[in-house]
Amino acid sequence: MKNTARNPVTQTIISDSTCTSAELLLFRKCQEECYGAEFDQIKKGALGLLRVRGRIEEARGVTTDLKQPIILPRNNIVTHLVADFYHRKFHHHHNEIVVNEMRQRFCINGLRALVRMISKVCQQCRNRRATPNPPEMGKLPPERLASFTDPFAYTGVDYFGPFDVTIGRRHEKRWGVVFTCMTIRAVHIEISSSLSTDSFLLVLKLFISRRGVPRRIFSDNGTNFRGASRILADEIEKISSGTLIEKYPEIEWTFIPPASPHMGGVWERMVRSIKSVLMDILPKEGLREEVLRATLPDVENIINMRPLTYVPLESYDSEALTPNHFLLGNSIGIREKGDCDVTNPSLLNKKFRTSEPIAPKDVVIIVDENMKRNTWTKGIVMDVIKGSDGQIRSAVIKTSNGLITRPVVKLARLDLKVNPTSEHGDHGGGNVSAQQP
Ligand SMILES: [Zn+2]
Repeated sequence: MKNTARNPVTQTIISDSTCTSAELLLFRKCQEECYGAEFDQIKKGALGLLRVRGRIEEARGVTTDLKQPIILPRNNIVTHLVADFYHRKFHHHHNEIVVNEMRQRFCINGLRALVRMISKVCQQCRNRRATPNPPEMGKLPPERLASFTDPFAYTGVDYFGPFDVTIGRRHEKRWGVVFTCMTIRAVHIEISSSLSTDSFLLVLKLFISRRGVPRRIFSDNGTNFRGASRILADEIEKISSGTLIEKYPEIEWTFIPPASPHMGGVWERMVRSIKSVLMDILPKEGLREEVLRATLPDVENIINMRPLTYVPLESYDSEALTPNHFLLGNSIGIREKGDCDVTNPSLLNKKFRTSEPIAPKDVVIIVDENMKRNTWTKGIVMDVIKGSDGQIRSAVIKTSNGLITRPVVKLARLDLKVNPTSEHGDHGGGNVSAQQP
């Protein structure tokens, strides 16, 4: 013990040997307590402690503790304190280091479990490991689970922007309007030139012409909105009772209550995705309006290409579902060649349907777009000319003005046959009569 002159507070410094003796005393006491009567009968090792008899007695440069580790009972406060000391010594990390260091001095049954337990109850370790424990997720609204409905039957609407665009020398603002399908999470983006009711109605009209009339449109309540969206909400609320219901009585409008902003998470998430794609695509300055108009459908497509389900890497024949599967049939909108039975005439377009070809002696009208229909020339087919594919492509026709050649697409056959008696005498198709059945 010594007093430091500088420090008025009396400090007690315990010497190393005192410390070691105190430690040994504690271990002895602990062993005595735990092993009771046996402790007196068993032959003690160095310093009167129960030790494990090792086989490295002769090893030089090795401490007595390592040669003969001190036996300590597992469930004793002294053992726990020793383990806690080692746990702190190695800064609350790496239980294996603690185990390794302790086993070089002590023999403790179930040492690893003890070290783990010490780390588990340590407050500092608990603080470090603490993670937020979010409550169980709420139920999805029915609109999110509306199977067998068309895309955009249940739609959320939100504004984003504004974007500064240049039109000629003018600078104007434009807002993006994102319509999100609640069921398949597809997006549709329109551009609005202002936050007025008229602009919104125009945008809604554009959306409806391309995607159909939604059954229900969801929008955030004014208090949930910031900036542009707030004005939109006010506007929608203003018009919802009047113009909107008048114009689209089949649409139901739902405003998300102020206390549950997470319900709007579907379209807020979409707006975030759209913004991040736009950041990459749009020029940093001097954005022209037509560039913005051309970019947004591109962004819309990219967002609609994102997989909604797990992307399987193991098998190539199963693909992940994307919103575009519902809108276009596959993720990137490429149309596959279908197996079309060309021999079935009902599947064929009129253009490819075979018709009875024009034959000699048919009475035809020669179509001439430059003349009135009632002045078109009639004639009799004298000969037909076949193309390289064997199909009749043109015909030689005897008219009142002599023989002319015309493509068959310009010839309309009349349901008449030449009267055999006047076959050589008439001109101009005047002397023809309906064929008698
Ligand atoms: Zn700890």
